[in-house]
Amino acid sequence: MDEADGDHFDVIVIGGGPGGYAAALYGASAGLRIALVERDKVGGTCLHRGCIPAKELLESASVYRTVRHAAEFGVHVGEPSIDWSATIDRKQRVVDQMFTGLGSLLKGRKVEVVPGSGVLEADGRVTVETDAGSRTLAGDAVILATGSVPRVIPGFEPDARLVFSSDELLDLRELPGSAAVIGGGAIGCEFASTLADMGASVTILEGLPKILPGCDEEIAKVVTTSFKKRGLTIRTGVRVTGHQPQDGGGTAVQIEGSDPLFVDMVVVSVGRRPVTDGVLGDGCKVAVSPRGFFEVDAHGRTGVPGVWAVGDCIDTPQLAHVAFMEGMNAIRDILGEDPPPIDAGRVPWAIYCQPEVAFAGYTEAAAKEAGFDVVTAKHRFIGNGRAVIIGSTDGMVKVIAERRPDGTAGRVLGVHLAGPWVTEQLGQGYLAVNWEATVDEIAALIQPHPTMSELFGETVLSLTGRSLH
Ligand SMILES: Cc1cc2nc3c(=O)[nH]c(=O)nc-3n(C[C@H](O)[C@H](O)[C@H](O)COP(=O)(O)OP(=O)(O)OC[C@H]3O[C@@H](n4cnc5c(N)ncnc54)[C@H](O)[C@@H]3O)c2cc1C
Repeated sequence: MDEADGDHFDVIVIGGGPGGYAAALYGASAGLRIALVERDKVGGTCLHRGCIPAKELLESASVYRTVRHAAEFGVHVGEPSIDWSATIDRKQRVVDQMFTGLGSLLKGRKVEVVPGSGVLEADGRVTVETDAGSRTLAGDAVILATGSVPRVIPGFEPDARLVFSSDELLDLRELPGSAAVIGGGAIGCEFASTLADMGASVTILEGLPKILPGCDEEIAKVVTTSFKKRGLTIRTGVRVTGHQPQDGGGTAVQIEGSDPLFVDMVVVSVGRRPVTDGVLGDGCKVAVSPRGFFEVDAHGRTGVPGVWAVGDCIDTPQLAHVAFMEGMNAIRDILGEDPPPIDAGRVPWAIYCQPEVAFAGYTEAAAKEAGFDVVTAKHRFIGNGRAVIIGSTDGMVKVIAERRPDGTAGRVLGVHLAGPWVTEQLGQGYLAVNWEATVDEIAALIQPHPTMSELFGETVLSLTGRSLH
């Protein structure tokens, strides 16, 4: 290899989060020479400021909850307490372990990680501003995977003292006595659940008429009821206008048409904004939508030949596993393998609040809106042996199937779960929806007993017209 070859790659990936590192690892395992440009740490939001640390804190909350109820099982441990700094240290150890593992994987596959900020130039090359100066890389293909950052709302700029976005919250040094969580979406509900389990008095302030928009209405209701039972306050249809720090500490959140809400801290969780600014050099023709996303077709191709975009920087579900698949699909497209496009309406969703939520496919309302005649069935975890054994029975499985002309249930259109460990139970529901399985096909299969996943089998069975339990 001569010197010029050192900066020429089969694929240059800009951004080392799930979308970018998946493309890098998968491409390298196909024998491609890959450069992965990352200006912070490989792993991106998911590993350092998202999925992994947020779920670790939820797990700590779950351990605390379990220990608090240990006496019910005849296990006496005294009154448990939280050592929050140990909790945060453990969270960091988990992140660090995964970070080291990812670094080894990339090294093992000979991906060249180029530290610095990447810019795609008009001539297709990538300039990287590194600590050691500027470096120019040339590639046969470029994948943009620059991800997203938390949205902020005017009047609630994060200061890591009174106002926190997810970035600051995951490094919280002291537990608050009370918190307002602005935004009742997936991430807001996860944070609300964690803080409430840790003993804070939590109020969710949501602008829409219900929390968890996008979830099936009955599933969102399960979470609402369960949250209220645990003492969380949920206020929907509210508009926050700002906050006033108080002399004695804490702040007063101003709510239109209502008294202020006095809390120790505010968590702002109102979605994420794509990172596309500063990624394109002068004259680069990659299109950016009015909402700030790179514009791509169903294969992740931008309008510029040889340039793909994947993950949170394109307008598809902002989920790490979607970014993984988009990253791998971009590589397969580069290799000419014609991967099937991802159907955004059928990707798996998992929300790790207590109770957990998981779903794939149409909600009942969306199926009807799309013109399907539907038949639905629901079974509650209160009737499931394993859920009773573990003492966690809030929740249900709901299956939505297409009604056939003879009135019987046919193809499964949507599977929606709320309850214990449902994020681990979605797999078969996801496959059912995406393989377009019929209820008869699924009902012919055996579920292991006693498991919580039996409830999915029971629910589908009842759609055949006959039930068991
Ligand atoms: C609190 C929280 C919890 C979440 N929980 C879940 C969950 O449970 N499950 C789930 O599926 N998803 C979850 N998500 C969403 C998930 O984290 C994102 O969907 C995922 O990280 C998107 O991956 P990405 O690669 O597109 O972008 P990112 O992870 O944002 O990575 C982009 C990377 O690109 C780098 N970068 C940006 N611009 C440049 C540049 N010009 N040059 C070099 N590098 C650049 C950034 O430094 C970053 O490392 C969560 C998010 C948050 C905030």
